[in-house]
Amino acid sequence: MTEEIRERVEKLRQEISYYDHKYYVENNPEISDYEYDQLFQELRELERKYPSLITPTSPTQRVGGEPVEGFPTVEHPFPMLSLENTYSQEEVEEFERRLHRELPGEEFDYVVELKIDGVSISLIYEEGKFTRGSTRGDGFRGDDITANLRTIRSIPLELREKTAGRLEVRGEVYMTKSGFRDLNNRREKTGKSLFANPRNAAAGSLKLLNPRITSERPLNTYIYNLTFSTTYPPVTHLETLDEMKKWGFRVNSHFKHCLNIREIIFFHNLWREKKEELDYDVDGMVIKVNNLRQQAHLGSTSKSPRWAIAYKFPAQQATTRIREIKVQVGRTGALTPVAVFDPTPLAGTTITRATLHNEDEIRRKDIRVGDTVIIEKGGDIIPQVIRVLKSKRGGKEKIFDMPSFCPICGTKVVRLEGEAVVRCIGSACPAQLKEKVAHFASRTAMDIEGLGDKLIEQLVDRGIVKNISDLYRLEKETLGFLERMGEKSSLNLLGQIEKSKNQSLSRLIFALGIRYVGDRGAKILAKHFSSLEELSQASVQELENINEIGPRTAQSIVLFFKEEENKKLIEELRKQGIRMKEEKVTPQKVQSLWGKKFVFTGVLEHFSRKEAQDLVESLGGRAVSRVSQEVDFLVVGKNPGSKYNKAKELRVPLVSEEGFWKMVKEQK
Ligand code: NAD
Repeated sequence: MTEEIRERVEKLRQEISYYDHKYYVENNPEISDYEYDQLFQELRELERKYPSLITPTSPTQRVGGEPVEGFPTVEHPFPMLSLENTYSQEEVEEFERRLHRELPGEEFDYVVELKIDGVSISLIYEEGKFTRGSTRGDGFRGDDITANLRTIRSIPLELREKTAGRLEVRGEVYMTKSGFRDLNNRREKTGKSLFANPRNAAAGSLKLLNPRITSERPLNTYIYNLTFSTTYPPVTHLETLDEMKKWGFRVNSHFKHCLNIREIIFFHNLWREKKEELDYDVDGMVIKVNNLRQQAHLGSTSKSPRWAIAYKFPAQQATTRIREIKVQVGRTGALTPVAVFDPTPLAGTTITRATLHNEDEIRRKDIRVGDTVIIEKGGDIIPQVIRVLKSKRGGKEKIFDMPSFCPICGTKVVRLEGEAVVRCIGSACPAQLKEKVAHFASRTAMDIEGLGDKLIEQLVDRGIVKNISDLYRLEKETLGFLERMGEKSSLNLLGQIEKSKNQSLSRLIFALGIRYVGDRGAKILAKHFSSLEELSQASVQELENINEIGPRTAQSIVLFFKEEENKKLIEELRKQGIRMKEEKVTPQKVQSLWGKKFVFTGVLEHFSRKEAQDLVESLGGRAVSRVSQEVDFLVVGKNPGSKYNKAKELRVPLVSEEGFWKMVKEQK
């Protein structure tokens, strides 16, 4: 063995462990699964040839992830392993030969299932009740994410058929493609970073420390294995799939009982095409020995069971040509280069464009206009340019330079130190203004229903809206001139705009589009500062002292309120009557709810009206329906009704839903 091989093995290990961290810990992979698997395969081959190079810490010897901070660690009753995987038919045939070598003279039959591209989970039930859910972690110890898993509706909290004793099932949490697209769209509008694919989005959602946010993510499950049950002794895997379904688990229906490798290959080829019809990603098929006695005999290596193998689908790649590179301008003024291709069919859709992320990425891959490139959609919804086929260059390809001026408004662009992104800082840039207005009006911000992208485009292009506060000056007559705006829709829109004046302080803070302040950050800020005025005067230090507000966000907030343009905007909004204070009582002041009268108005996010009223009554208070001077608190939900104004008139103390919840918790 040469020194060169030793070095190559070392290099592969370093690279793989770097990509593992990106993938498992940061949920932000830098290369495609196919590329990763090629590196892994190379390492495995070298170790097979030179077994003396194997070390216990080599990635081939262990399961990829590691427990993350913030969750209690739990031990798995049985190790939670990975799967050996292959892209080749020959290796599947070799898998079968190996089975015959291990258990000579035995017949095998198989269950072949879709390999769902999500995150594996373990669920433990005791006497039919869900008691613990965890991630795979390093295979021996995972994170206890029970609270997050409880928010996923397809996980039964109680089994449908009473099952005595203790049992463990394993399965996959995944996000549908459509749910993923919606989530990313929402994140884009609110200036948050995008998830690369549904798998990463699902993994990120499970590792959130706040189950309330997890509950808002479109997660679902498929359960595919029964690890053990202290009372139910199955004989085949097929039988357990059926049983688990009866217990109430979601079991994927596209599995097949195959009697030989020929049938397996046929089924695999069928799904290679068909998988595009599914609303979730599958990256291959899992072949499992059906007989559980045989499974037990075969056992496992330190990394994967010997009775199963993943037969992966080839990466979905295509070759195409870059016609041009366009530059898009986002809400924060970020300029993003986007490659425009000759329309190319790939994985069931026609691809015409792909983001090139930023200038550095273009340089790194040496991408030029006119280049022939390989694009890939390996489980990723967003296509990526993988590499340039330099041999196809004819000499006419053009090096792309990021423009020095904004392509929309012509302002000089800047690239701040330490940032990969180039930004337009023109405050009147129409592209930014459209995005800002859309963000301001979005559902999680000021929630102005009916103010969609098309309408915003007209309003900005015709110079009717030059600034967010212009929204509050719109009139029926002006709107009537716009396309598809009849009298009724104009009136509806004006009503919605009027209503938005009363949104909560947290929504207003979020709507202003301060960089790095998402909806959660805005809620935290609204809890600390009772008015926009107070927030605008906070120092970086003061902001940094707030739990969960980091230095980058603190600085961005201070900068935002210093800017003349923003000061003017806030003043204008104030003049138009937008609520800028959270009128709330300090929950600590309330000693007891005993005898206190509560009225509710608007929609509560986390309770039904009835639940909230029952809660008050159960704590000795009274829930009444009319606002009068005798009322102690008006709890104000989303879109409050006339009770809100009445309470203000009578100076009845107002309390937000969050404030109400705090009061209740203090009593418990
Ligand atoms: P894996 O995803 O290849 O296969 C094992 C997993 O498949 C199981 O843990 C289980 O969660 C899942 N699975 C889905 N459907 C199943 C079914 N019906 N039955 C049984 N299991 C099923 O292995 P892994 O260890 O989770 O991850 C390794 C893979 O992850 C690599 O092969 C690579 O593709 C990818 N990866 C990519 C990067 C990157 O940077 N792109 C980095 C690390 C890992």
